Amino acid sequence: MNSLYENTLTILDRTAKLIQAEPAIVAQVREPQRIIEVHFPVKMDDGTTAVFTAWRVQHSDARGPFKGGIRFHTNVSLDEVKSLAFWMSMKTAVVDIPFGGGKGGVIVDVKRLSPAELERLSRKFISTITPVIGAGVDVPAPDVNTNAQIMAWMLDEYEKISGRKEPGVITGKPLDLGGSAGREEATGLGGAIILKELAKKLGKAPEETNVAIQGYGNVGSFFAKFARGFGFQIVAVSDSKGGVYEPAGLDPEIVSGIKKEGKSVADLGQGEKISNEQLLELPVDIVVPAALEAVLTGANADRVQAKAILELANGPTTPEADDIFAKKGIVVVPDILANAGGVAVSYFEWYQNMHGEKWELARVRKELEEKMVQGWSEVSNKSSELKVPLRDGAYALALIRISQAMQ
Ligand code: NAD
Repeated sequence: MNSLYENTLTILDRTAKLIQAEPAIVAQVREPQRIIEVHFPVKMDDGTTAVFTAWRVQHSDARGPFKGGIRFHTNVSLDEVKSLAFWMSMKTAVVDIPFGGGKGGVIVDVKRLSPAELERLSRKFISTITPVIGAGVDVPAPDVNTNAQIMAWMLDEYEKISGRKEPGVITGKPLDLGGSAGREEATGLGGAIILKELAKKLGKAPEETNVAIQGYGNVGSFFAKFARGFGFQIVAVSDSKGGVYEPAGLDPEIVSGIKKEGKSVADLGQGEKISNEQLLELPVDIVVPAALEAVLTGANADRVQAKAILELANGPTTPEADDIFAKKGIVVVPDILANAGGVAVSYFEWYQNMHGEKWELARVRKELEEKMVQGWSEVSNKSSELKVPLRDGAYALALIRISQAMQ
């Protein structure tokens, strides 16, 4: 099986050929500009010292400062961080915001840390990479298992070292420290805006479009709420413990209520209980992977019945599955467009910090809608012009923009 990064290069190489990109530029985009590997000590509550391994991968700053989240997870690897950094460069180019791409990851099981240990680890990691970040250099943000509180500790540590206020060094901050209204909901809302465009392309009204969502965390839950608000029928949802299928439709507020009680969506007591694998193969109009990487593969793509896939997770479809979907005429809206709402609002946050502004939620939502609709129409036009699927159109658009900046 190919590594995640090899899979990302398959798409890059196919696109480079398609648009006859300059070989020297492709050679540069194939590898990150800089990989920083660090090993750092953290004092644990019991008095011992543990050493952690982490990376900051700076893929490309051709179009602006490196931009990308920091992930805390036991499965973090250099291969994964490189892939995520590469996707960030493509994503920022597709929605045309003045950033490049980067990503960070720490190998750690956060469930085993006390709050004090988590704070010391967050501060120590950011102090270790302080020399290579900055508001005009590289701007981190939250990702899996990191949140606004952790961004606040990191900002505080960075500012203590640099001796000056620089809120634009990190996004996803609490509102009182320069965070933006609408950042938490942004990826889900951006996905729901793209869903409306996708339904138009399929020639279906929202009320007659059924949607199944895998994953009900930050992205999946906000997506469900906004999609339902736009009139779509949410007929299946899942989380790591399993899911439910209710053809008559589910109420996202009730599903979120169950999650707030600390239970699984599988305990909803409505509809039929299903597995995560079954959710992807349901007879629905649109399947939305919003949890993990590589869930649609050569092994299950043939059984997918949906008319379209809307990728809100990063990297949920392998190249083998993509080929099968293309043959079956299933439309795939690629992650680098569909889930770009988060980084778009991160850009709005950074912009507000750099200009000393504070935007109302209504303005953030309006600017997000404009960015997403523009991204959708530019990707659609590029894929029609080149007569290729949306993913290839999105990569072509990104690669052209990055190439122009490099040249
Ligand atoms: P999250 O941790 O808030 O939620 C993840 C969800 O996936 C949870 O409901 C969890 O129960 C579920 N899950 C975990 N393992 C699963 C499994 N085996 N099968 C089915 N579901 C499972 O994370 P999130 O922030 O919502 O991110 C979800 C995806 O979206 C990730 O791929 C992430 O990289 C991507 N993404 C997130 C953002 C963002 O702004 N949060 C932006 C772009 C992309």
